[in-house]
Amino acid sequence: MNVQAKPKPVPVISSWAKPFWEAARDGKLLYQRCKDCNTNVFYPRIACSNCFSDNLEWVESSGKGTVYTYTVVESNPPSAFIQDLPFVIAIVKLEEEGVQMLSNIVDCDPYEVKCDMPVEVVFEKLNDEITLPKFKPAKI
Ligand SMILES: [Zn+2]
Repeated sequence: MNVQAKPKPVPVISSWAKPFWEAARDGKLLYQRCKDCNTNVFYPRIACSNCFSDNLEWVESSGKGTVYTYTVVESNPPSAFIQDLPFVIAIVKLEEEGVQMLSNIVDCDPYEVKCDMPVEVVFEKLNDEITLPKFKPAKI
């Protein structure tokens, strides 16, 4: 079968999420915190998910967390991802309370991934504008 790989889709950067993507380019993982009720907020939003205040600040994450849940994609991905099979899509629960990210677990055998496995962020540069935070098994 001769499958021509399409370019991968890239995130659309909303104006309020720009600080997140700029930091990712610099190898930093940011989330927001509400200055009124102290709730951690992720994904980037214009208002607090708890009290709807727009008094949000950006905070740097340690980049450490655990796998909350995951799946190993073995077949039928969008064609741009065929070359990556098998790959892991996971929800990573970061150390910071309430912050969870949908991402990939990389730099390991996909079948070694387990729930509650410690992971740490790595950054994958796609182009000059977009760097994707992904996660790899943490060194213990
Ligand atoms: Zn709030």
